[in-house]
Amino acid sequence: MDSQATSELRAAALVSKAWPYEEARKLLKRYPDGPPAGGIVFETGYGPSGLPHLGTFQEVARTLMVRHALGEMVDWPSRLIAFSDDMDGMRKVPPNVPHQDMMHEHLDQPLSRVPDPFGCGHESYAAHNNGLLRQFLDHFGFDYEFHASSECNASGRFDETLKSVLRNYRAIMDVMLPTLGAERRQTYSPVLPVSRATGKVLQVPIEMVDPEAGTVAYVEPETGERVEQSILSGGAKLQWKVDWAMRWVALGVDYEMSGKDLIDSVTQSSKIARILGGRPPEGFNYEMFLDENGEKISKSKGNGLTIDEWLTYAPQESLAFYIYRDPRKAKQLSFSIIPRAVDEYQQFLAAYPDQEWDKRLGNPVHHVHAGAVPPARMPLTFGLLLNLVGVASTDDKDLLWAFVKRYAPEASPESHPELDALIGYALAYFRDFVADSLRRRAPDEREAGALADLDARLAALPAEAGPEEIQFEVYEVGKSGGFENLRDWFRALYETLLGTSQGPRMGSFFALYGIDNSRRLIAEALAASPPGSLGGGVA
Ligand SMILES: [Zn+2]
Repeated sequence: MDSQATSELRAAALVSKAWPYEEARKLLKRYPDGPPAGGIVFETGYGPSGLPHLGTFQEVARTLMVRHALGEMVDWPSRLIAFSDDMDGMRKVPPNVPHQDMMHEHLDQPLSRVPDPFGCGHESYAAHNNGLLRQFLDHFGFDYEFHASSECNASGRFDETLKSVLRNYRAIMDVMLPTLGAERRQTYSPVLPVSRATGKVLQVPIEMVDPEAGTVAYVEPETGERVEQSILSGGAKLQWKVDWAMRWVALGVDYEMSGKDLIDSVTQSSKIARILGGRPPEGFNYEMFLDENGEKISKSKGNGLTIDEWLTYAPQESLAFYIYRDPRKAKQLSFSIIPRAVDEYQQFLAAYPDQEWDKRLGNPVHHVHAGAVPPARMPLTFGLLLNLVGVASTDDKDLLWAFVKRYAPEASPESHPELDALIGYALAYFRDFVADSLRRRAPDEREAGALADLDARLAALPAEAGPEEIQFEVYEVGKSGGFENLRDWFRALYETLLGTSQGPRMGSFFALYGIDNSRRLIAEALAASPPGSLGGGVA
């Protein structure tokens, strides 16, 4: 980018209303005199008690969008810490993992100490799940530093802040106790010692021994004995809200976003961070994703889409695109939204080169690609491909390419690998989500008449007629066919020819499928129409 473009970009970034810039602006306000010595620290958190799901992933993706926006506004150093809370006790055994008996023996132990049930050589169950998350983050080319709670605790990195928690024990209790029910209040302690006898994370009342040495005392539930123990270097784990605050202070976190379900946690943790002498980070609470029934996606219900699942049916850019949009709006995250996300992404990509900077910065693809937006090279939509797979009823990629080449002669698997991949995604998506729902209905009399007219017009067109030429005829038939609303004509085409209730621009579809094949499709529909209408009985 030349220097003029760079300065235009910066000027536009400084006033852009797109959410990543609004978020980054909070950091400019936080440091009116310039960035802190170590640069700006972004953090995302993750609990490795199960497979990483899209909720985890979106937080990293969105946070990096804010970080990139900040970099477009000012030349401040920054980094992202992806933090795994792997010292959490395993409260229940995930139902979908092997070696359930072995796993039950490790209940309540820190996830970082539960053996890897998958037998692939990871140090622990948490390390296994951490590895999966990192694999996805790397796959997307994300720039982050990975830290695990177990490692930060064991190395002594948190020791000074942990001592500060003990020093401020009373004040922290005063923040927490009013938020708890009467029963919980009896046993609540911000410090959860890790039992030396059983390895379990203990929820027991503790007694302060020596804050400067980091020692506490408690009664070991297994033996009934009073135990004195250091909470430093991995000897304890903190309760969630206190732990979050401790981590913000110890790592100097400036920015962390979180879900709406954590609004209360942010409030309490912010108070505790101030007690510990720190400053709570900037950030905002994004809306939660919903499943196809409008229910909140939760890890325990297992109704969320995994990253793997999305990437089985669509390219990764479409996922980043979906995640970018409207983080404050509750959105569905299910298989049904994938085709539209793929096609909308392509539309924004095509629009980008001709936009002015202010519009570009509001274009999702700018954030999906961290400013390095590739050219749009997709000659057809995912929706169109799905319809093609439907009528061609094939799972043969080469056969589909034969159609595509007629439509876009310049494209080949070698020159358009992203289109080649999209054809593969269309085959998979069709097979798993569309195939069983296709129901072609017979045309009624008026529709049969219009279809016969369309057939005659297609027959009169040259074989190589393009989408526009064909679309013109489709319109003409609709207009002269007695349809009050052209939309009824289009719906008739979708329902009688494709077996769907919505569909593509039919001119494009006929051009892609070929005029001869399209006429065959029309003949099939007419053969199914009731006797007495134009096409009745034609086999
Ligand atoms: Zn493993």
